[in-house]
Amino acid sequence: MTSEIEKSIEILSERYKGRLRISNCYDYDKNGEKIPFLEFAGACCPICGRSHYCMINATGSRVICTKVPNDDKKRLNGWVYEINGEKPISFNSNLAVKQRPKTNPQASAKRSDLLYRIVLSMRPLTDKHRQDLLHRGLSQAVIDSYAGHPGFGSYFTDKTYGKNHHPHDMQLGFAPSKDGKLAFKSRWDFILKKLGLSTELWKGVPGFYLKECRYKNRTIDVTGEAPYFGNNAEGMLVPYYNEFNQIVGFQIRVDHISTQVKVLRYPNKKYYVNIDANGDTNEYAVRVTGPGYYDEDGTIIAQGEFKDGEEINVNFCQGLQRLTFEIKKGGKYFWVSSANQKEGASWSTPVQVAYHRNIAKRKATDQVLIDYIKNPKSVWLTEGGLKAIVAADNLSKNFSSEELDKYGRDVIAVAGVSSYRKFFDKLEALNVRSVTTAYDMDYKENPQVKANYDSLIAELRKRNYHIIRAEWSKEKGLDDALVKKSSFKFIEVN
Ligand SMILES: [Zn+2]
Repeated sequence: MTSEIEKSIEILSERYKGRLRISNCYDYDKNGEKIPFLEFAGACCPICGRSHYCMINATGSRVICTKVPNDDKKRLNGWVYEINGEKPISFNSNLAVKQRPKTNPQASAKRSDLLYRIVLSMRPLTDKHRQDLLHRGLSQAVIDSYAGHPGFGSYFTDKTYGKNHHPHDMQLGFAPSKDGKLAFKSRWDFILKKLGLSTELWKGVPGFYLKECRYKNRTIDVTGEAPYFGNNAEGMLVPYYNEFNQIVGFQIRVDHISTQVKVLRYPNKKYYVNIDANGDTNEYAVRVTGPGYYDEDGTIIAQGEFKDGEEINVNFCQGLQRLTFEIKKGGKYFWVSSANQKEGASWSTPVQVAYHRNIAKRKATDQVLIDYIKNPKSVWLTEGGLKAIVAADNLSKNFSSEELDKYGRDVIAVAGVSSYRKFFDKLEALNVRSVTTAYDMDYKENPQVKANYDSLIAELRKRNYHIIRAEWSKEKGLDDALVKKSSFKFIEVN
């Protein structure tokens, strides 16, 4: 990545409170120079507030929002908004466009599975994450062993690891090389060598890349690059499996949800306002310093709970000053990706294949698994990789063997409702005859989700699948409904 893009990503990530990544789309600046669009990937779109789907150009002057329409014609799947309130970032577009990092084609499932299993064994689940999973209704057996390896892991950046864990967990270190000079060493080189494998094996596995590193103190200054896994989001590693129980991708379920505060109306400039927002508890506090407010850290003039995207008005200074703002929350799940890193890998987002336990425990070469894939079957369709694993683990506690034959024993999930097209290849690969759709029960209230759901049904019908729609009473998601033994209703769709 060039320093031009890095610099602007840094400024814009700070401004929009979260991650951004380079997309394949381009914008043109006012001189007609090509500049890349950055996708929101945790950072929030200033138009709709969502942490994904929209884009901002690298100078920060234009947003393409895919949610909020305006009078303009749609461009790149969304509507164009000029951002005038913020100062555009100066940008040498020639430099930026020519020097995109070299990435690798995606590795085979066999190779990504091997590397990801090593990741899981190096990053064991923390007690906190284990409790979360048990609380969600996942059995200990599945947490500890899935297709012959730990079912989940916990990802922390090396900064956190270095502080609280044994240093051998760290991915990078340095040691004298043959010429006596200090050089960076990656734990990945060491592990792969020890396993008798090529030290290049990580290339093409999403999440892995060549990290440029530097360590400097008063006496030493070491620079170098070394293979590295992961990005900056910390949280639980949720594997995505293909039909052979091979891990083909990871999502991170973040420990802390980011927030973005957008001030819509400022008070008089004599007042300095600071707004704290906590994405986990939805609590906020507004502090003010200025005439009449002399506490060292600012005087709290308002606090309470916020709703995502809701406008909040605060009057202070005996009602003479007014502040209006809104707080938007970032996403809960992120793909572990290295699409825009040196020697990183780009990918297409995978579909989760979550089998019932007797099949989920089997490795790719197991004949029982290979035969099972070919058998005609019914499956459940939902959205959310972790939800699918929890649901598949709980189906047999809710339904009889005949019911399972009819509605399915296994759960297939896309990562988000808008990627429903990804279902179809999987349904063919698994020789599926009948599907039971089981989207979150609030799907009818969200027009975008409802539209995607309708398209899914239409496409399934075109492909001649037998379609059943599952509904349940209280809980939102399929996993919750199964764990809490909700009463289910099944509606024949065709
Ligand atoms: Zn937007």
